[in-house]
Amino acid sequence: MTSITLHGAAGEIGGNKILLEDKDTKIFLDFGLSFGKWGNYFTPYLQPRKWSYINDFIKLGLLPDLEGLYRADYENRYRTSKPDPEYDGIILSHPHLDHAGHISFVRADIPVHCSMGGKAILEVLEETGTGFNEYTQLKEAFKLRPYTKDPTKMTRDNDSVTERKMNIFTNKTKINNLTVHSFPVDHSICGANSFVIETSAGNIVYTGDIRFHGRRSNYSHFFVEKATEFEPVLMISEGTRVSERNSFGELELERDLKSLMSDVKGLVIVNFPVRDTDRMRSFIEAAKTVGRKLVINMKQAYTLSVLERNGVSEVPRSDEVEIYIPKKGWGVLNNDDYPRNVQLRDYLKWEEEMLNKSNAVTAEEIRENPRDYVFRCDFFELKYLFDVQPPEGSIYIRSVTEPIDEEMEIEKEKADNWLNKFNLLPYKQIHCSGHASGAEIQDMIQKIAPKRVIPIHTEKPAEFRSFDAEIILKGLGEKYLLS
Ligand SMILES: [Zn+2]
Ligand SMILES: [Zn+2]
Repeated sequence: MTSITLHGAAGEIGGNKILLEDKDTKIFLDFGLSFGKWGNYFTPYLQPRKWSYINDFIKLGLLPDLEGLYRADYENRYRTSKPDPEYDGIILSHPHLDHAGHISFVRADIPVHCSMGGKAILEVLEETGTGFNEYTQLKEAFKLRPYTKDPTKMTRDNDSVTERKMNIFTNKTKINNLTVHSFPVDHSICGANSFVIETSAGNIVYTGDIRFHGRRSNYSHFFVEKATEFEPVLMISEGTRVSERNSFGELELERDLKSLMSDVKGLVIVNFPVRDTDRMRSFIEAAKTVGRKLVINMKQAYTLSVLERNGVSEVPRSDEVEIYIPKKGWGVLNNDDYPRNVQLRDYLKWEEEMLNKSNAVTAEEIRENPRDYVFRCDFFELKYLFDVQPPEGSIYIRSVTEPIDEEMEIEKEKADNWLNKFNLLPYKQIHCSGHASGAEIQDMIQKIAPKRVIPIHTEKPAEFRSFDAEIILKGLGEKYLLS
């Protein structure tokens, strides 16, 4: 028996948790967080209860109610965890949180199969992120150990770590009777893959998130070509932009950036997605053309160095950018009235590594030579405008998606207040999506010609019905039997 069950991404964008069962093998295609469902219940101030994560998330429909899947320390607060895993692995298409975010709850003895870029970004999130980020290293919760000074007493043990097995894709990954063929594709984060999975009921295609108008469109076309050869019986296809006909490409975006920046007399301030290294490339190239250099934040610089360390090519090299070092905490960095060790107290260990880089820049340097820089400044960094003091003739380029919910609207309103304060309104909006248009999805389905298609990762799955294919619409938790 072979079946597919959508435990997420059914009629919603993201939250992919797709269960593939084939004979005795059970794997998940992604195990992501549903931003929509999360936002229905939580806010930055109403956060989940750590001790009751699994219980609360299952009751709120954020996690599927399945046994033998979750880590025992949290599951034991809800029900007695099974001694052995009942699932054989997770195939991670890419490290966006709507695909990877809930891996932290999965037991360590269930391996995650992903690309090198995917693994490196998960490690960066673990080290630099806030919230519950335990993808590769699981810190056992609710554990006791003898107190060092008095071993007859017990204290909390926060140091017990279990490493998860992270398996890097080869061309063919075997999981019991399944063979998973992975193909790098174009998306808005590095390390994205689409798949063909050989099962006993025939070949299944899973697109993950895909586009054909970025810097790596040739990858996506190659995947489509190869997937066609497998004559799949089923295709699980993303449809984020199924109702849109056109795509504005990354190279067009780079061209437009160059013209936007060409006559700027002051500082060019920009915002683009923190982990989109292809967008970073567009800004690097545009900046270079107008004789400026892109300044990124410490988190981005750290991400580049981890990717570099892991041998991930095709991302900007650290020496192509400058790193902005903000004053933090006491604000005494480089202030000789304070000893160096006091200055460094305001920085985390991974940040310290950035302070001594030869391409580190401070607000003073940007203030003195605004025409030399393109300064990346996201919503959370708007306060740095006090330090860089953009002079008259500066511009702000917004290269992120338009708000899609109330919270994003509020955030944008606040951002506008800051920009107004520094005379940066009206800003310029220029963005390119990480997802294929409806026309491109239709074309992909036509070429791959699967027997059936299950639309996922879209609020409008029924729109797939206009395509030349048999469309299967499945709701959350409904099982689709292939054989
Ligand atoms: Zn997604
Ligand atoms: Zn994505």
